[in-house]
Amino acid sequence: MIFDTRCLPADAESLLLAAELLRQGRVVAFPTETVYGLGADALNESAVRAIFAAKERPADNPLIVHVWRREQLSGLCAVTEAAERLMDAFWPGPLTLLMEKTPKVPDVTTAGLPSVAMRSPDHPVARALLKACDLPIAAPSANRSGRPSPTSAAHVLEDMRGRIPLILDGGECRVGVESTVLDLTGEIPTVLRPGAVTPRMIAGITGQCAVAPSVMRPLMEGETAPSPGMKHKHYAPKAKMTVYIGADERVARVLREQYDRTENAALLAQTQVLPLLGDRRAFSIGSTPAEGAHLLFQRLREMDDLGVSRIFAQGWEPEGDALAVMNRMARAAGFDIVHV
Ligand code: AMP
Ligand code: MG
Repeated sequence: MIFDTRCLPADAESLLLAAELLRQGRVVAFPTETVYGLGADALNESAVRAIFAAKERPADNPLIVHVWRREQLSGLCAVTEAAERLMDAFWPGPLTLLMEKTPKVPDVTTAGLPSVAMRSPDHPVARALLKACDLPIAAPSANRSGRPSPTSAAHVLEDMRGRIPLILDGGECRVGVESTVLDLTGEIPTVLRPGAVTPRMIAGITGQCAVAPSVMRPLMEGETAPSPGMKHKHYAPKAKMTVYIGADERVARVLREQYDRTENAALLAQTQVLPLLGDRRAFSIGSTPAEGAHLLFQRLREMDDLGVSRIFAQGWEPEGDALAVMNRMARAAGFDIVHV
C-alpha cells in the first residue's frame, strides 16, 4: 500500500488520530527517549506484518512490545521477581526485558521465539500515545532495515515516506541509541544489546549481570545470535568506517594522516580533538559517551547525505557507559577498530 505520509507535531489532535490508526491496525511512527519507533498493535498479526513490510525487515528479527503500564503485561508473559525489581528501578525508561511469552503474543511479533521483549518508554509523547490506544504496541526502530536508527522525525520521513500514514514529530530523541536488551529467561540476567541502562546499574538491582560476548565482536562462523538483531547488518553508513581508540593526541595524528592520504574522507572526533584536526572536514561526536550516543546516528546520516566515501572516527574504550555507543560504532565500522 502507498500512503501520503503525514508528519505532524505531536499534539492532542494528532495523538488521537495516531491512536485511532493504531486501533485500525495501521502503522504509526512516534518518538521515544531512545530513537523513533514504528508502532502497530502487537497482538494483531497483519498489523505487525505491515511493520516488517514498511521496514523491509527480515522476518527472523523480533520486535519490542511497548506498554505504558505494567498491568498490560498480564496474560502476555511470565513476569519473574527479578523483572519486577528491574521494572521498579528502571521503568519507564530505556530497558527492554526478555521474558517467556504466552500464546497470546503472535509468533510474527517475536519472530517465532519463545520469549517476548517488553519495554515501557518514558518519552511523554510515547506514553500519551500508548495510553490513548491502550494497546501493547510492537515497535522496532523507524528506519529502513540496514539504515542508522532515526533520532528525529526528519530521519523517519527520509526512510518511511509513502510507506506509512503518519509520523508524530516530538523533536530530537534524548538518548539517541536503542534500549538495553536484557535477557531474563536464563540463570543470570544477560545484556544482549547495551543501552543507556548499563550492566553495572542492572547488577545493582539483581546482584549479577552478564554481557553477551557478541556485544563487542562479530559472530563467529556458525554461531547463533542470542539477539537476532545482532546478526543483521546494522547501523551501517554508506562509507567504509574505521574507529581509532587511544590518547587524544595520538588519535588526532592518525586521523590527520589518514585524511590526507584518502580521497573524499571525513573525520568524526570528540569535541576537544577538533582543534587538532586543522581545516579538514571533521564532525563532532561530543565529549562524553552519552553525547556520542546522542549524536552518532545523526552524524552517520549527515555523512551519507554528503556522499562521503571514507570515515575515520574517534571512539571510546568499549566499557561502562561507553559500551552502548561503541557497540553501534563497532557495527557501523564492520568491527574495524584500531587501538593507537
Ligand atoms: P529494534 O526494535 O529495531 O531496536 O530491534 C529490537 C531488537 O530487540 C531485535 O533486533 C533483537 O535484537 C532484540 N529482541 C527483541 N525481541 C527479542 C527476543 N525475543 N529475543 C532476543 N532478542 C530480542
Ligand atoms: Mg532497529
